[in-house]
Amino acid sequence: MQVGDPELVSGHRCFDLNFFTRKEKKQLSSLKVHTVQSITTSAALYPFIGENVVPFGLAVIFIDLDHLIEYVRDTRCLDVLGVFSYYDIIIKNIDRNYLALSVFHTIEFFVLVFCLSTLFPVLTYVFFGMLWHMALDLFYIIKARKPFIRAYSLIEYFVRSKSGKYVTSVLQILKMDGINTSGISNLSGWMKKWGA
Ligand SMILES: [Zn+2]
Repeated sequence: MQVGDPELVSGHRCFDLNFFTRKEKKQLSSLKVHTVQSITTSAALYPFIGENVVPFGLAVIFIDLDHLIEYVRDTRCLDVLGVFSYYDIIIKNIDRNYLALSVFHTIEFFVLVFCLSTLFPVLTYVFFGMLWHMALDLFYIIKARKPFIRAYSLIEYFVRSKSGKYVTSVLQILKMDGINTSGISNLSGWMKKWGA
């Protein structure tokens, strides 16, 4: 999941949702897209790596499970169906300087998987699946000129989130004036569940 342009408080450019076309917005957050990418790249790689396309392909898709971790961490809500409305709010209000932490997309996690792959060789294919997923994510956010919506390292997230220049919770966004909540399904129900 990712994202938008104007002026960030910190000197980075801020995120303007209008920068994205409808299609791009869909692509940035779509599990379907990563599934299709996984299947097509796995099919292309099958002649070369055989059954190892399975850990590779699964990693391309399931690295995004960290979005659920972020959702639960932020909302303290275990009803994971709210994750769709949650990210919808972020995407629709991306001009509010939201800073995302996707743990499986951080350098530290990549290093961990890489180190573990020396003990469990199958993780080598998981590692390359994660790298491929990351390359695809980066393609979209760089194309949209919004590379700083997400922290790429836990340390980076810690430093930036403490700077006071970023919004790190959807609950903070929901308290802001003039936010865009159009088309977000069951918003009041989710707000209740999230204690917003
Ligand atoms: Zn991703």
